[in-house]
Amino acid sequence: MTRTAECRCRQCRVEVRGEPALVAVCHCGNCKRRTGSAFGVSVYYPDDAVIALHGSTNQYRIDNERTYQHRHFCTRCGTTLYWRVAAFPGMLGVAGGCFTGAALPVPTHTLSDEQRCAWLADVVEGGDVPAAVECQGGNDERCRDAPAAVA
Ligand SMILES: [Zn+2]
Ligand SMILES: [Zn+2]
Repeated sequence: MTRTAECRCRQCRVEVRGEPALVAVCHCGNCKRRTGSAFGVSVYYPDDAVIALHGSTNQYRIDNERTYQHRHFCTRCGTTLYWRVAAFPGMLGVAGGCFTGAALPVPTHTLSDEQRCAWLADVVEGGDVPAAVECQGGNDERCRDAPAAVA
């Protein structure tokens, strides 16, 4: 099986084959910032499973006390699509939310649980949270079109 992950504007794509080596949910501050969301989903493939990287990216480096990583983001829409972490040599990390097509395996690991948003379980499990509303920018064809450039 092959899978494709793509940025918001679809200029950048990652093509991979086989099942990922690791699927993890990460609650750290870096993942919250790169996604602008409550957590990140990180999907790791060995380099020999990466068929191709397409599109123009820029990158930034994050250092912490134990390791460093290079995050690649689309030069047009800014989506952080893939990265390399020095602690995982020979692996490509790909943003889980960017995959199209077949569902990814259920994550098997969580990271930085101490930074997990306290309300997350309620929201995910449909607990005591505001009623669901229909997403106005939903997953329809218009939403999949490349966004127009802003002058
Ligand atoms: Zn893009
Ligand atoms: Zn993280």
